[in-house]
Amino acid sequence: MCRVPDGKALRISFAFHSLTMSAIKFFSTNGHPEHVDFKAALLMGQAPDKGLYMPEEIPQIPGGKIEQFPKMSYPQIAYEVIKPYLGDLVTDSDLRAMLMDAYNYDVPVEKVYDEKYVLRLDRGPTCSFKDFAARAMGRLVQHFLREEGRSILILTATSGDTGSAVAHAFYGLDNVKVVVLFPEKEVTDRQRRQMTTLGKNIFPLAVQGKFDDCQALVKQAFVDPDLSALDLSSANSINIGRLLPQAVYYFYAHSRIAPDGKKAVFSVPSGNFGDLMGGLLALKMGLPVQKMVVATNENDEFPVFINTGVYEPIRPSKNCISNAMNVGHPSNLARLFCLYGGQMDETGHVGRQPDLAAMRKDLYAVSITDEETRQTIKEAYRQHRVLLEPHGAVAWAGLLKYLKQCGDWSPCVSLETADPAKFPEEIIRATGVNPPLPAAMARLDELVESFERMDGRYASLKEYLRRFL
Ligand SMILES: *Cc1c(COP(=O)(O)O)cnc(C)c1O
Repeated sequence: MCRVPDGKALRISFAFHSLTMSAIKFFSTNGHPEHVDFKAALLMGQAPDKGLYMPEEIPQIPGGKIEQFPKMSYPQIAYEVIKPYLGDLVTDSDLRAMLMDAYNYDVPVEKVYDEKYVLRLDRGPTCSFKDFAARAMGRLVQHFLREEGRSILILTATSGDTGSAVAHAFYGLDNVKVVVLFPEKEVTDRQRRQMTTLGKNIFPLAVQGKFDDCQALVKQAFVDPDLSALDLSSANSINIGRLLPQAVYYFYAHSRIAPDGKKAVFSVPSGNFGDLMGGLLALKMGLPVQKMVVATNENDEFPVFINTGVYEPIRPSKNCISNAMNVGHPSNLARLFCLYGGQMDETGHVGRQPDLAAMRKDLYAVSITDEETRQTIKEAYRQHRVLLEPHGAVAWAGLLKYLKQCGDWSPCVSLETADPAKFPEEIIRATGVNPPLPAAMARLDELVESFERMDGRYASLKEYLRRFL
C-alpha cells in the first residue's frame, strides 16, 4: 500500500481497465499537492518538489486477458499494458502505431538449461534494454509536442546506456534537443561513441565525475528558476514515461515461457532501479511472479537495506565492470519505498519506513562482486555456451544464488540488458571469445566523435545550458 500525503492509500484498482478509461493521475513521492495526468508527468519528468511521479492506482490486467498474451505480438502486449495509464490522451490507433514502430526488433527468450531462460533485451538500435523505454517514450513525447506546437530540451544523465538510447530515440527531431551528461571515465569507448557520433540535435557532455554527480547536476538544473525558459524535460528513469514500457517485457517473457500461467522468478540487474520498478508494476498489475531477484554489483546499498532496514547511500559509488549499475543512490528507490508504503526523498532521507515484510515477500536482493561477475561470464559460456555481458552476468549470478538458497524453482527468467559487444574486453578475458558486433554497431568504431568536456560544478553546467536560451 502506498500512502499519499493526504493519508489516502494507493488504490489497487480491480476494475476492468476498459471500464476505467478516464486517465490515471500521477502524484509526487515527495507529496506535492498537485496530481497530474500522464502527459504532464511525461513532459515534466520530475515533479516540482523533486519527487518522482507514481500512478494513483495500478490497473489490473484481467486474468482472461493475460491468458491471451501467448498468442499476441510484442507490440500488442505493449498496448494492453500501457493503454490503461493513458486513458484517452492518445487514440487507440495512434498508440498501436507508435508501439508497432517502436518495437520492430526481436526479443529472444533463450533457454540456458531446463526451464531457466535469459531474456535478451539487447536487439534494439543501441543494443541495451534502455531502447525499450526510450523508443516508446520518444514517440509519445513527439506526439504530445506536435499536438501543442511546443519544443523542449531534454537533459539527461547516463551511466552508459541511457544516453545513447535516448539520443537515438530523439535523433533528428526539430522540436527536441538532447543534452546528455556522462561520467568521462566510466563509460566504455563504444558506449561513448554511440552518443558522440550522432551530431544534429544531440549534445553530449563528458563530466569529470561519476554518474551520481551527473544525476545530481541534472536534478539541480530542473529546479533552477534561471533556466525555466528552457522547457527542460528529463529522460532518465525518473521519467514515468520510461517506466511503463519497462513493465511490458516481463509480461512478454512470461507469456512465452509459462503459457499455463505458472508463477515465474525474474532476476533483474539493478542500478537506478528503473528496470525493477517496471517489473514490480507488472507484478502489481497481475503478472504471476514467484519472486523478483534484485541483483546489484558491489554498490549494495539496497541489499543491505532489505536485510537491516537501514539505508545508507554509497558515496562515492564503487566502480564495477557492470558500469551502468554503478549507482550509490538509486533514484527509483523513492518509488520502490512508495510502493511499499514508505517515503524516501531525493537525497535518500527516509521519511517513513516501507513495509519490510511485504518487500521481502516479493524481493530477494543480492550483491555480486566483480570477481563473481567474471566467473559467471566464464562459467555460463563453459557450461552452456551462453554469452553474457557483465550486467546480465550479475543477474544470472543473482538468480543462481537465489535458487541455491531458497530452493529450485521453474520457470526462471534472467534479464540480459546489453549486447556483449558493448564490453568486448571483459568478454574476451573471461571466455576467449570476441563477441560479434551486431549490425547496429557495425560502423561505430570508424565514425567521427564530437562532444564537449565539463568539470563537475553546477555553475559550469548552467553556463553551458545558457546557450540554448
Ligand atoms: C541501465 C542499465 C542497467 C540498470 O538498469 P536500472 O533501471 O538503472 O536499474 C542494467 N544493465 C544495463 C546494460 C544498463 O544499461
